[in-house]
Amino acid sequence: MKTKKNWLIALILVLIISMLSACGSSDKTGGKESKDTLSAIKKRGKLVVGVKYDTNLFGYKDPSSGKVEGFDIDIAKALAKKIFGDEKKLELKEVTSKTRVQMLKNGDIDAIIATMTITPERKKEVNFSDVYFKAGQSLLVKKGSKIKGIDDIKKGTKVLAVKGSTSVQNIKDKAPEAQVLEFENYAEAFTALKAGKGDALTTDNSILYGMADQDPSYTLVGEPFTDEPYGIALNKGDDKFTKYVNDFIKEIQDSGEYDKIKSKWIKEQ
Ligand code: GLU
Repeated sequence: MKTKKNWLIALILVLIISMLSACGSSDKTGGKESKDTLSAIKKRGKLVVGVKYDTNLFGYKDPSSGKVEGFDIDIAKALAKKIFGDEKKLELKEVTSKTRVQMLKNGDIDAIIATMTITPERKKEVNFSDVYFKAGQSLLVKKGSKIKGIDDIKKGTKVLAVKGSTSVQNIKDKAPEAQVLEFENYAEAFTALKAGKGDALTTDNSILYGMADQDPSYTLVGEPFTDEPYGIALNKGDDKFTKYVNDFIKEIQDSGEYDKIKSKWIKEQ
């Protein structure tokens, strides 16, 4: 009787253990529990990267061709090429400034390459690679606007920004009197500016150049008033993949590939 009971306990234990390990491997990218994103990517046979679809020059989905293109996209392709020797072994998923960290945490994506500034706050939630691009926050206005720089943002000036971006907090710090209106993404914010719903749009100069490029009746004004160093965000604690990505950044910088990608997309700066 006793041995029968012991067997039953042993059986239940085995069942619990196998159920628990099944839960672990059900993680979509394998990044969350195992924190070994690189092995999970290799096993899956493709790299999954979160990129912007609304940011001309960095990550932009061309409505006519349906193609997603930009500086960040080419960096993602180069990373897929390093891992697999084939830049096509890459799946792009759309993220916004608001959704990107949660998508990484959920295991929906292996990395975020999406105009993302390295900040101490964000470092609590994700690992960052070394800096791969340097931007700074600025202002976009309609040509002829009275606003010529950050000092012209006065009480009641309507400034448009995007949820989840560093730009929102920065503008509140630098121009506390401004009325800040927040949008879901950059396409919506720019549409609102064009519709006269605000006096200025604020985000990184690199992103604003992309908007001015799409509609030359808009222009950047003043000097950048923050530093926005971009990093590739990776699963928190996955130091192995972080080192791999840092080696990758150094390799493309040393080989000249980085400069090629940069000059393809970035004209100003
Ligand atoms: N680089 C800034 C940030 O990470 C603004 C651009 C963006 O919203 O992605 O928040």
